[in-house]
Parts: sequence; structure tokens; C-alpha cells
Amino acid sequence: MISLIRHSLEKADRVLVITHVDPDGDAIGSLTATGQALKQMGFRFTLVCDDKVPARFSYLPLSSDVLRRPDQRLAYDLLIAVDCGDEERMGYAYADLPDPRPFIINIDHHVTNTRFGDVNIVDPTATSTTEILHGLFQELDIEITRDIAASLLTGLVTDTLGFRTVGVTANTLRTAADLIDAGADLGFVSMQALNLRAYSTMKIWRTGMNKMHFDDGLIWTSITSQERREAGFRSSSSVGLTNLLADVEEAVMAAVLMESEEGSVKVSLRCRPPYDVAEVAVELGGGGHPLAAGCTLPGPLSEAEATLVQSCTAAIERQSQAARAVAAEAVAG
Ligand code: 5GP
Ligand code: MN
Repeated sequence: MISLIRHSLEKADRVLVITHVDPDGDAIGSLTATGQALKQMGFRFTLVCDDKVPARFSYLPLSSDVLRRPDQRLAYDLLIAVDCGDEERMGYAYADLPDPRPFIINIDHHVTNTRFGDVNIVDPTATSTTEILHGLFQELDIEITRDIAASLLTGLVTDTLGFRTVGVTANTLRTAADLIDAGADLGFVSMQALNLRAYSTMKIWRTGMNKMHFDDGLIWTSITSQERREAGFRSSSSVGLTNLLADVEEAVMAAVLMESEEGSVKVSLRCRPPYDVAEVAVELGGGGHPLAAGCTLPGPLSEAEATLVQSCTAAIERQSQAARAVAAEAVAG
């Protein structure tokens, strides 16, 4: 695999790196870490994200160089997609690229990844895409500078909610320790990338919690585009509200529906084991991880809500039955 990457890099002249829309810490961490690695190797490159880089990530090196679209005047011969489960996650940054499309290296950790690249480095056991990058950089003899370490640690900290999620292993912590040894500041990164949120985000949480429903193990809420506007909240991401709802002990699955300006509905899903929201997301045209996934549904909001509640309720029923069958087999066996 590493020889394939080396070979693609050797042939490349101008590299485009794209991460997903509604970027989180792993998205911007992966994007800026890859940019710094390319810089160290002497490449010409452009970093792109189809949405604005959230202000709390402005401490990351190269974050102010991230563009909303590739430079149309330049011909890119290599595209590195980071933290994107499928091509649509790159938004117009990819959709608007002229033909011929560049050669694609797809680096990601989503179990639902569609392997859309010419080279696919997809490891669903990695807790973040930056964890995969850390391994790749070592194999490519890239020096893990203090700045690269800050970018990589940001992805680890945000995707594991501060090393608290189910997939965290001793290896994850060893990678984090390596990055701290390289000069990354865990306290600062955690404060900046995980804890800080805009006041408009808290207003969205308030609106969402005022309107939450709980039925058959599912807790959910929805936010209209007018409520988003009134709160001064520009993103269509649920920014932590789904995580908050998923901690309700009587619930097994949580969902937040966010109506966009054009009327489509962004859905964010969470659950606890043995449930699996990636299954629900894929059924509805999206993707993600077993315990954290998402999709976009057509509007109006009320119809999207009905569709989603039905899918989640059916999944809870199906997955509860499957878990009971496994438990019964274990007892019998
Ligand atoms: P969040 O709820 O935080 O927006 O997303 C949870 C996880 O699901 C993230 O890993 C994210 O990349 C993935 N995800 C969210 N929305 C979509 C989507 O529309 N398509 C795909 N493929 N993945 C998504
Ligand atoms: Mn990620």
C-alpha cells in the first residue's frame, strides 16, 4: 500500500487535498496535517473544504489557507480525500472539478466507505483519519513536527470525544502519547477543539431540547431553518446536540434533524452498543460509523422526520431482536 502511495506521489506535480462538508476536528486536522506533510516533501498543493473552517480550529497551522473550491486555473494531477466516506461528502469541491479527474487517494476510517479512490486506505478500526495519517507519515519518513502533531491530535481528540468512545484502544493512547512527545498540547487541543462552542450553538441546543421527543427507545429533535436563522447559527451540523441526547439513559438511539436553507434535511444519528446507526444511515443514502452516522433527506422537515423515526424504530426493533438471539445462543452454547 505504501509503495502505491509513494508511486502516486512521485508522479504528482500539483496535489489537491479535500475534506468533508460540515468539517469536524478530524476533517480539519487531517486536511492541515496532510498539507504540512506535502509542504515538507516539497509539493505544490491546495487544501479545500466546501464549508468554512470553524473558528475554533483557527489555531491549526494552514487552517487560514483552506479554500472553499479548488483553484480553477490550476490542473491537479492528484487528489487526496481525507475523512470522506464517499464522493458526495466532498460537496461541490469535488463535483465541480473539470475532466479529466485527478488520480484519487482515499484515506478514511468510515466503515461505510465506498472505496471511491484509485488507491483506498480505509481502516474502520482507526478511531480517526488522523490516526491513519500518523502511521502513513511514519512510513513515508515525514518528520512529525510539533505543528503536524497538533493537527493529528486534534482529529484523535475530537473523534474519540476525548478518548472516551468505544473504539479507543491502548494503541490510540500510544499514538496520542507520541504526538504529545512531539510537542502537541493535549489540554489546549481538548479545550479548543472539543469544549469551546459558539453562543449560537447553545441557542440551538436550547431550541432542540425544548422540542425533543422520546418514544420506543428513540430520542430525537428537529430544528427548522427559521430557528437556525433566529439563533444566528449558520452550519447545518448538529454540533454536539446529538451526543448530548444520546447520553439519555432511557434511550438507545438519538437523532437530530436540521433543515437547511434549501429545504433538505441533514440528519445526525448516535447510539450505544449493540445498536448500529450506520445501518440506518446507509438505508437512507448516507453513511458513517456504527455508533455515529448521518444522511441527508429531502424536505419538507415533517416528512423527513416521519421517515427517519420509522427507520430508527424499525432498526431498534430489528437490532434488539438480533442482540437477544445472540445472547440466547451464548447461554445455550
Ligand atoms: P455527525 O452526526 O457528527 O454530523 O456525523 C457522524 C458521522 O457520520 C461522521 O463520521 C460523518 O462523517 C458521518 N456522516 C454524517 N453525514 C453523512 C452523510 O450524509 N453521508 C455519509 N457518508 N456520512 C455521513
Ligand atoms: Mn473522522
